[in-house]
Amino acid sequence: MRPKNLDQIKREIESCERCPRLRKHCRSVAREKRKQFENEEYWGKPVPGFGDPFAKVLVVGLAPAAHGANRTGRMFTGDQSGLWLYRALFKAGFSTQAESSHRSDGLTLLGAYITAVARCAPPENKPTPQEIKSCARFLEEELDALPEIRVYLALGRIALRGLWAVLPDEAKSGMKVPDFTHGGEIRLKNGQRILCSYHPSQQNTFTKKLTEPMFDKVFEQVKIFLQTK
Ligand code: SF4
Repeated sequence: MRPKNLDQIKREIESCERCPRLRKHCRSVAREKRKQFENEEYWGKPVPGFGDPFAKVLVVGLAPAAHGANRTGRMFTGDQSGLWLYRALFKAGFSTQAESSHRSDGLTLLGAYITAVARCAPPENKPTPQEIKSCARFLEEELDALPEIRVYLALGRIALRGLWAVLPDEAKSGMKVPDFTHGGEIRLKNGQRILCSYHPSQQNTFTKKLTEPMFDKVFEQVKIFLQTK
């Protein structure tokens, strides 16, 4: 069977109802809204991946934020994590803009694609293992639809685990599930690589567990790897 293209995958994600708890939560957040966004119409649906169909870098996050991507409909858009991610992408040359504010702000990713292991905003930012498992097929389909990927950037331990679960056998044959360390590099059997970074969540950035230079350095690692043959 031919792999689905990214547009097909996006349509299927947006209409998915497989996780009742998450769908209920997203709809409720979209209805009730946060005071500062009360005049906006929230997206409220599962959030598809976003970026360059010929991406060489796949950024894998955890899940949309309730008042971020669940509001704007674009991955990592409209919240603090997104400020960090798009700024770093821009500095590294993977984005045309340093800020991603809404779906029609003109931003284009260059050689990068952003996705997540769960597409619906979870209560307390914690999808259950079963919800991640239910959503895994979309990530697997994206991997098939993005033939140029050379580097995966896993933002956090859960993203790394979720990505690992859907990698094809030829990439990880005989390898154990890798440990997560910030800045860690995992060489896959098919020549691809996984780089790991702490997630740029407020919890990590406010506490300085992740600083801007630390995050930028990971993107430098990505660039250096892409420059190698
Ligand atoms: S998290 Fe994924 S599988 Fe679950 S409802 Fe949302 S899109 Fe569907």
